[in-house]
Amino acid sequence: MIIDEVEAIPYRIPMSKPLHFASGAVHDIEHVLLRITTSEGIVGIADVPPRPYTYGETTASVIGILTGLFREVLVGADPLDRAQIHARLARTVGNPTAKGAVDIAVWDIIGKSLGVPVHRLLGGYTRKLAVSHMLGFDSAAALVDEAHSYIERFGIRTFKVKVGRRPLALDIELTRSLREALGPDVELYLDANRGWTATEALQVLDATSDLGLTYFEEPDDAREILGRRRLVQLSRIPIVADESAPSLGDAAREIQTGGATALSIKTARTGFTESQKILGYAEALGIDVLMGNQIDSQLGSIATVTFGAAFEYSSRRAAELSNFLDMADDLIADPIRIEDGFVTAPTGPGVGTAIDEEKLAAYRIDRG
Ligand SMILES: [Mg+2]
Repeated sequence: MIIDEVEAIPYRIPMSKPLHFASGAVHDIEHVLLRITTSEGIVGIADVPPRPYTYGETTASVIGILTGLFREVLVGADPLDRAQIHARLARTVGNPTAKGAVDIAVWDIIGKSLGVPVHRLLGGYTRKLAVSHMLGFDSAAALVDEAHSYIERFGIRTFKVKVGRRPLALDIELTRSLREALGPDVELYLDANRGWTATEALQVLDATSDLGLTYFEEPDDAREILGRRRLVQLSRIPIVADESAPSLGDAAREIQTGGATALSIKTARTGFTESQKILGYAEALGIDVLMGNQIDSQLGSIATVTFGAAFEYSSRRAAELSNFLDMADDLIADPIRIEDGFVTAPTGPGVGTAIDEEKLAAYRIDRG
């Protein structure tokens, strides 16, 4: 089995509810569908979410690298020679979500060629992950309503609250309103996307210390290393590295140098192979991992479930799987369902989902 063709198809789907956060905003999702076809006609698929404010990738750069340098690596390669493919992709620096998608599409091919779901190939621990829903910037009243409605409609019991605004009181009051409205049993944690300084983040930690928050993700810029270390040392809850740990090496550096005490794993940027290495590293050290969301489409979210459900250590906590609920539509044929607070990995071979060709034709933006 060798790879014959690599396609990178840009598409755009509007958000039904635009998402705002400290490092940016998303009004449409403009993603790239990666399709890798083998000599046997097996098609591996994955979604690429370009996030210029986090990784510097754009739709054009993703298409350029996938159909240029990465295509040269992939065409003629045997998908089973994954380590060989990775070694050759690694000669190009950066491009994390393009590389992540190649890994996922290659695993999809392997699963399809064996007739086995990839969540079982990877580990087969469980099929279900509890869902954590992300609350973007809005008024406290609107977010309390949103949380109530997600609890009622989907049984979701964990919320990640986007913070990082000034004045700090805005987000301190928001967090307090959510805790008071939702009661003590709903899990709440914060993500400031580097919106604050370490000193501001410490003020927020002090002001919310009675609210039972479980994690604080990227409170400040991790590159301001002494401020971040002081924050990590003084915080009683884990400080989660997300955009400061987009690779295995970055994750190890942040943890070993005291820049964080927990890790967000996103399959959109580390695929399944590198995500598994990060997971093993975290498990060995006994630090918590959160399965994160790159504002993923349903296709991307299924990759997160596939990985997260495969291992005991990644399935312990609620995974961020619900950003797709704010999108007007998706490319996949069989939509994700959130039932009683859980998403279940598909049973089909590969990553287990298929593209609706009519939807792809309607949303692709590479044909006039
Ligand atoms: Mg984050």
